[in-house]
Amino acid sequence: MLPSVVLERVRAELRDWSGSGFSVLEASQWDPRLVAMFEHTTSRVRHLLDVPESHRVLFMHGGASHQFAIVPMNLGGADATAGYVHTGLWSGKAIRDAANLIDVHVVATTADDGFTGVPRPDELHVAPRSAYLHYTPSETAQGTRFPYVPDVGDVPLVADASSSLFSEQLDLRRLGLVYASAQKALGATGLTIVIVREDLIGRARPGTPDIFDYALHERTRSRHSTPPVFALYIAGLMLDWIDARGGVPAVAAASRRRSDVVYDAIDSSALYVNPVEPSARSRVSIPFHLADPRLDEPFLTEAAEAGLHALAGHSSVGGMRASLYPGMPEGGAEALAAFMGDFADRHG
Ligand code: PMP
Repeated sequence: MLPSVVLERVRAELRDWSGSGFSVLEASQWDPRLVAMFEHTTSRVRHLLDVPESHRVLFMHGGASHQFAIVPMNLGGADATAGYVHTGLWSGKAIRDAANLIDVHVVATTADDGFTGVPRPDELHVAPRSAYLHYTPSETAQGTRFPYVPDVGDVPLVADASSSLFSEQLDLRRLGLVYASAQKALGATGLTIVIVREDLIGRARPGTPDIFDYALHERTRSRHSTPPVFALYIAGLMLDWIDARGGVPAVAAASRRRSDVVYDAIDSSALYVNPVEPSARSRVSIPFHLADPRLDEPFLTEAAEAGLHALAGHSSVGGMRASLYPGMPEGGAEALAAFMGDFADRHG
């Protein structure tokens, strides 16, 4: 969801952006107003995530899926080995792509438990010469969350934070690289944020096409290829909105409150099941299923009639899921919980 104030602003500015007399969609990428907007967006990311001086912020085209290949191209030279933690659908895809490019060592997997938890810190044995360790702080489809940041010594830690970036505080000093597609927290698809420690830039394996090389994006301030202007514009508005709400700490607290409301609704009725170990429950993507699968369809239909949309679970896991990213008002979680209680009374 996007906050309605952001949508209203987009509507108001669509024909006349920033006093230009034209739409942001029509601006040249060299228009000084647009250049200022890119700079503003970068500095907002730096400010809100407390990005250390040692790290660069890059804006790249495409989704987090692109980074599944781009990360090993950039961080894994020939003959390199990288560690991966396998906790569900998205880390599985990252592993498959990386394995085409680098020697992948799966350091831990929760597959045997049906991906209902995350490994314990002492289960992550990373070979000291690994090019990096990749993990997924929040698995969107399975609805899990690492309650800790892995400690991997000198091995660079890489996180696919597509689900959780901006919804919780993350100490970037502990990470070599973080990437996240923008659509969950910052509104529009087609843009991926990469935050990377500068010593990890410029190490792309020979033969890496320029456009996939982080060094090119750093050098050109992410403007080598015409940037996804509209997605950047929406991201800038969302970042301003997050800042005005009190920044990431406030958004993270709201995220905890929203998810507590939905987990309470799940746990207080035998009709709803969330299989995730309580200490590893996601705060942004909450899968659940109905004890009686014949009720799936009535649940979704009646929810839509009540104005609660997009509740079908990811196709790989089925069931339902509540998506609670920063733009979701707390009233949205409360409305879902009230509907779930009412539905359980009628069908339980
Ligand atoms: N990683 C995670 C954790 C995700 O949730 C998603 C998308 N839902 C992706 C990667 C893939 O992102 P994209 O669709 O932007 O490629």
